[in-house]
Amino acid sequence: MTRQEKIVKTSIIGIVVNLILVAFKATIGILVNSIAITLDAVNNLTDALSSIITIIGAKLAGKAPDKNHPYGYGRIEYFSSVIIAAIVLWAGITALMESWPKIFNPDVTSYTTVSLIIIAVAVVVKIVLGKYVKRVGENINSQALVASGSDALFDAILSLSTLIAAIISIFWHISLEGILGVIISIVIIKASIDMLRETVDSMIGSRVDSELSRKIKESICEVPGVYGAYDLSLHNYGPEDMQGSVHVEVDDTLSALEIHNLTRNIAIKIFEEFSIILTVGIYARNDKHHEIREDLEKIASEYEEVLEIHGFIVFEEMNLATFDIIVDFDADREKVKNEISDKIKQLHPQFNYIIIDDYDVSD
Ligand SMILES: [Zn+2]
Repeated sequence: MTRQEKIVKTSIIGIVVNLILVAFKATIGILVNSIAITLDAVNNLTDALSSIITIIGAKLAGKAPDKNHPYGYGRIEYFSSVIIAAIVLWAGITALMESWPKIFNPDVTSYTTVSLIIIAVAVVVKIVLGKYVKRVGENINSQALVASGSDALFDAILSLSTLIAAIISIFWHISLEGILGVIISIVIIKASIDMLRETVDSMIGSRVDSELSRKIKESICEVPGVYGAYDLSLHNYGPEDMQGSVHVEVDDTLSALEIHNLTRNIAIKIFEEFSIILTVGIYARNDKHHEIREDLEKIASEYEEVLEIHGFIVFEEMNLATFDIIVDFDADREKVKNEISDKIKQLHPQFNYIIIDDYDVSD
């Protein structure tokens, strides 16, 4: 079974189990007139719904690239996630509006033994389901499944609280239905907002995970002849598909043939290790004016907001030295650049300096 098939199979089990729970809980909730149990059913329904849309999204996103969509269809998954989040948000707000007045005017609920037993069974079913989905997710490294498994375990606690509220109501005649309903609604709303935020971040283009960018740069630096890897920039075309570019510093005596081989080797290595398509750009390096480079590094180290200086090279025939600088997004970039430029010019006035402004795109 492929990874995709395992995700689909596990999700379908989740959908079927959730829909059965919804049927039982909704029936009981309406029969015994309990808003908390009815909302618990709504919560399970949103779980089933999100699994269904996840499967549809994954299927659509898996379509092969074509002439008009050469980067594939992976980003469809973001749309399906936004749709799920919107549905869940709507369910949460409706639930909140329903349950809030019940705090002050509780309905008369009349629990039956059968209804309590069914809720207790539902709690156990949800725990077993949650553990199963989570374990499969961990085995095949699927964030979506792990999240959905954890969600199911959390829901089991919510269902358990409806059971406890029912027992309290039977023995002490105190109705916790309204409060419980509000709590369940807030849980549903929070889940939807988290989901929305995460997805929108991916659509806007968020910072590359710092562990990933460090590993990629380390891997590039393992290639013989590479002095350093900089400006790693990655774009996602879906949760499983990334492409990007990087700059590597190499000896300025390398021939075009040698650079051709080197960049190709780096691209192949990164694709094999991370399944990422990387375009490699070149910075030339020589040690002729290492004293300027060292002074430059010393000056830069006085500035906390200067994150990196790289790509230093001198063009003697033009009396020109250039280098790239990465300044923190929050700092006054122009001011820092001008100060550093002035200081290095004072120390080594024989050259003009051009500073190239790089952005802090990855760690
Ligand atoms: Zn650069």
